[in-house]
Amino acid sequence: QCITHCPVGALRERDDTDRILDALDDPETIVLAQIAPSIRTAWGEEFGLGPEEATVERLASCLKEIGFDYVFDTDFSADLTIMEEASEFLHKLTQNEGQFPMFTSCCPGWVRFIKSHYPEFIPQVSTSKSPQQMFGAIAKTYYADILKVSPKKIFSVSIMPCLAKKAECAYPNMTDKDGNFDVDVALTTREVNRLIRSFHISPAKLADKELDMPLGIGSGAGNIFGATGGVMEAALRSAYYFATGENPDPDAFQDVRGMDGWKESTFTIAGNKLKIAVVNGLANADKLLSALKTGQVHYDFVEVMACPGGCVGGGGQPIHDQVEMAAHRAPVLYKQDREGSLRFCHENPSIKAVYKDFLGEPLSELAEELLHTDQKGWLMPGEK
Ligand code: SF4
Repeated sequence: QCITHCPVGALRERDDTDRILDALDDPETIVLAQIAPSIRTAWGEEFGLGPEEATVERLASCLKEIGFDYVFDTDFSADLTIMEEASEFLHKLTQNEGQFPMFTSCCPGWVRFIKSHYPEFIPQVSTSKSPQQMFGAIAKTYYADILKVSPKKIFSVSIMPCLAKKAECAYPNMTDKDGNFDVDVALTTREVNRLIRSFHISPAKLADKELDMPLGIGSGAGNIFGATGGVMEAALRSAYYFATGENPDPDAFQDVRGMDGWKESTFTIAGNKLKIAVVNGLANADKLLSALKTGQVHYDFVEVMACPGGCVGGGGQPIHDQVEMAAHRAPVLYKQDREGSLRFCHENPSIKAVYKDFLGEPLSELAEELLHTDQKGWLMPGEK
């Protein structure tokens, strides 16, 4: 907050909107955007719009007015993350491979924390890339093939709730074999709102615009990634299906919801009793890792999000002085999940298509190449 409240304007947060404008000005460049799940809970706040009006489709409409060629949903790649991460977890569990717990990896703030403070746990962090990065990797391969263009022509923008995503997309291992970055620029919610204002667009006056296909479909399970506990709940829904061949009640794992900083629960999947924990806020992550290290607690699977409340409370979201918004925003995602017809990542038709036509199956050689990473590769040049 000190960055946005510096009285003399000496401190400014990094603003990447100029890079977007340059890409939009180039007629040879295809500019596409992905919109993270938590953005739909918050972007309208600065325009006086509630979540019913400030939909993801309304934001897509604004972006199209600005000149974006295609607008997609990070919910799609949150579904893809679950396909890979739930498969990775089940593989580890059934092969009794490596140490437990396995940690989620979709929050770069958390991955950065564990890397710098508890490096001994790095091998236990999922190798699955985050939804932001998986989207970028698919956009510049599968989607480039659909468009019949070179990946070099695609400028991939992500609209994200935090500044940590800017660092994540710039890590040297977040590229393809030729060194092309999966994601070229990550914009925060506040930056995208400034961009909308700079084009004199009044979102209230625009009609919603459907997201583009096929990367514009996401499940409710992918959507709840934006709230603490959402990644775990989505992963357990699909892990249950992968292990038993049947869908669970989509609300069977709802014990992991809520704003408590450290939640734990036990679920049985295909005869395996799984002890899981969900943590939000780095102070709680520190306590959890310390307790794991001393053997005070034992878990099989742990979700950590660095921001209190998860991405709905992310540092790039609109700020309201003295008001913590995460608890107000998270119910928007749960309502959309409850009311939607698609509540399992593995049932997303676009996910089925990307595996059938391109990736093969979760953890295939191509999936490993594009969608997974060596967690040691998060080091920047010169870092240990
Ligand atoms: Fe970014 Fe915070 Fe979400 Fe982590 S929890 S991905 S740091 S907004």
